[in-house]
Amino acid sequence: MQTIEEYNFAGKKVFVRVDFNVPLDEHFRITDDTRIRAALPTLKKIIADGGSPIIASHLGRPKGIADKYSLRHILGRLSELLGVEVLFADDCAGPEAAEKAAALKPGQALLLENLRFYAEEEGKPRGLPEDASEEEKKRAKQAVKESQKAFTQKLASLADAYVNDAFGTAHRAHASTALIAEYFDADNKMFGYLMEKEVRAVEKILNAINRPFTAILGGSKVSSKIDIIRNLLHRVDHLIITGGMTYTFTKAQGGRIGRSICEDDKLDLALELLQEAKEKGVNLLLAVDAKIADSFSNEAQTAFAPADQIPDAWEGLDIGPETEKRYADVIRQSKTILWNGPTGVFEFENFTHGSRSVAEAIVEATRHGAFSLVGGGESVACINKFGLSDGVSYVSTGGGALLEAIEGRVLPGIAAIKN
Ligand code: AMP
Repeated sequence: MQTIEEYNFAGKKVFVRVDFNVPLDEHFRITDDTRIRAALPTLKKIIADGGSPIIASHLGRPKGIADKYSLRHILGRLSELLGVEVLFADDCAGPEAAEKAAALKPGQALLLENLRFYAEEEGKPRGLPEDASEEEKKRAKQAVKESQKAFTQKLASLADAYVNDAFGTAHRAHASTALIAEYFDADNKMFGYLMEKEVRAVEKILNAINRPFTAILGGSKVSSKIDIIRNLLHRVDHLIITGGMTYTFTKAQGGRIGRSICEDDKLDLALELLQEAKEKGVNLLLAVDAKIADSFSNEAQTAFAPADQIPDAWEGLDIGPETEKRYADVIRQSKTILWNGPTGVFEFENFTHGSRSVAEAIVEATRHGAFSLVGGGESVACINKFGLSDGVSYVSTGGGALLEAIEGRVLPGIAAIKN
């Protein structure tokens, strides 16, 4: 497989798919430029070699062309961070993009307009009336799929090489994230530095070369984590199921959980997963005590209770001190650690303690040589909130893509480069 480090971009036009889906305020100012910074090493390498990056991204979820979602809003900041004046094409697949791309000189960079101004990027039909029949929907889907090929070809024709550095969209088989790769031979397509790091981090976790391997899965719902739990049961030594999910398991085992969040239709599934863990010899840990509240609010009255004896009018919003201790003991001994999802409602200051103690134990294990990956859902916000992201081995930028990767799925954006 071609690597960005070894590739010489001199004189090459390079289609670089990045994830510049950054948050903007009402004046279209960027409120967090992490995603732009994350792509800089790749863009700088291409420019330093004497190549010309043609930078493509989506921004938001436009239903067509809309100034609100124009990538022009990020042009200034991108130029500033990259240290070169980036040119802009008002379109990504029309004549303007082709002309501007063709005129690029070595070391010049071009930013294309939002890929999702075209329905063909995602390959999903738009503008169908709400009462459209199944037949109409089918026809519209067929039509967009057909025009998607021409769109993808246009994107590919802008460049000599293709670099995918958008891990955040690697789980989507879109024109610019996966389909385009077909138009470049193996020597001229590769991951960018960010994507490479993400792929390596996930592989390191899923292959868990160093044991014990502990996964901490939190968050609100079991239903959104079933596939992850199933995939990890084959791989982990310890599985900590925490956050809101834990109460479905506790209730399934006959515990009293008061008004704690629970998926009553997943009780049987919870028992199955517990059984599966037992059969596989996985040490599955659930909360033994909880920090409970008399309402879902930061200002609620609080108390501690055994996790299976929560009074009727109360709900568990975080783990208790005994659980913190048990989790931390396991985490500190681990050599490979995955953390996805907080132990409680960390958005409320009074219910952050459990998540913080997990984060601190991970940092300590990492200091003693463990490999730790934090990502997917709210755990990134959580570790950033505690200011501890520098203490773990890797914080994924992935979100949904990371979750699909740890479910064991093949991500189209990765497969398109590897195969
Ligand atoms: P996820 O996006 O799957 O990582 O889920 C994160 C969300 O789970 C956060 O917004 C938390 O507030 C929520 N959460 C965690 N613990 C609880 C709980 N005990 N009760 C309700 N929500 C929870």
